[in-house]
Amino acid sequence: MKHDTDRAWIEVSISHLRHNVQQIQKVLPPGCELMAVVKTGAYGHGAAEISVHLNNMGVTAFAVAVIEEGIRLREAGVRGEILVLGYTDVRRAKELCRYDLMQTVIDSDYAEKLNRQGIPVKVHIKIDTGMHRLGIPVEDVSGVRAVFAMEYIRVCGMYTHLCCADSRAAEDISFTQKQTACFYSLTDALAKSGITLPKLHIQSSYGLLNYPELSCDYVRAGIALYGVHSFPGDDTKLKLDLQPVLSLKSRIVLIRFLKKGSSAGYGRAFTASRDSRIAILPAGYGDGYPRSLSCEKGRVNIRGHQVPVIGRICMDQMAVDVTDVPDAAAGDTAVLIGTGEDGPLAPDLADACGSISNELLSRMGARLPVIVKDDEY
Ligand SMILES: *Cc1c(COP(=O)(O)O)cnc(C)c1O
Repeated sequence: MKHDTDRAWIEVSISHLRHNVQQIQKVLPPGCELMAVVKTGAYGHGAAEISVHLNNMGVTAFAVAVIEEGIRLREAGVRGEILVLGYTDVRRAKELCRYDLMQTVIDSDYAEKLNRQGIPVKVHIKIDTGMHRLGIPVEDVSGVRAVFAMEYIRVCGMYTHLCCADSRAAEDISFTQKQTACFYSLTDALAKSGITLPKLHIQSSYGLLNYPELSCDYVRAGIALYGVHSFPGDDTKLKLDLQPVLSLKSRIVLIRFLKKGSSAGYGRAFTASRDSRIAILPAGYGDGYPRSLSCEKGRVNIRGHQVPVIGRICMDQMAVDVTDVPDAAAGDTAVLIGTGEDGPLAPDLADACGSISNELLSRMGARLPVIVKDDEY
């Protein structure tokens, strides 16, 4: 007997995922491919499952943040290119090679150290065009050229990251244009000096949504692939019809009656203003549901009603007020994060606790089982 849906679980809709892949692919310029960003457990959706399904849909480029994520994808049988976006200790060159992972060159010094390992490694060179996080400074043409000349380094790609592509403010648009212009002047300079350019990429989800005209070999899409925006109601140049992939669900384990004036939970943060019925859900911040949604900031869907979270969310439990849902009963499903009509959307919940969907979703994978829905095609 399966117990996956006894307590709390994540449901992922493969048909929504496929829909989003098609929506994204439809707007990619000719020759540009989707690189699916599946770091942090595919933003809480389950990296191996999601990547294998993406493979079946024809997606053959993936990005992860750390080498372990890449190794796990290979062990799950994922085919195609896997780029490690973050830092990997150069002493792990052998593993990069064995699992056929591509490593990001984070600066010139790193490239030299990696080359000195004497193990052939495929890389994408990251170029810093203004984010000032990882990358060789875009002005350093000779530094970039030097990496192409290294004996054990095979440069398969070169990319940069935009730092304000989500904003439609004039100064952010002009900053972004500067970032892309200097990236392309670097690639022009390299091409003029006789270097065959590798695959080039610039945009993440908002890069695509706001700068769809850029012509690259890849778009590195994360959050859009999972069918949500980072913030609710934001304005983007391109309006894709995206469908949320993840739902977070739990089950009522008991209903409790509270007399008017009695309190519930840690700190007695809730006091019943009327005779109340509260439902206890066995899910909490230990499952990734943010504690900052305590005290009516969060809402949960039970039997089609949006009911408030009451009192403080605990690590493993939370309470909701079902006084206005008289037929609510133990065993009912509660939708904590939904995909549309059925429950609160990730961007709204994230916004209610001062964050973005990306953070909310990526914290979701700790101990919840992932149930894959509608995966036949
Ligand atoms: C996480 C990440 C992405 C994906 O970003 P989304 O906004 O989720 O599309 C793309 N590129 C880099 C370098 C990243 O770290």
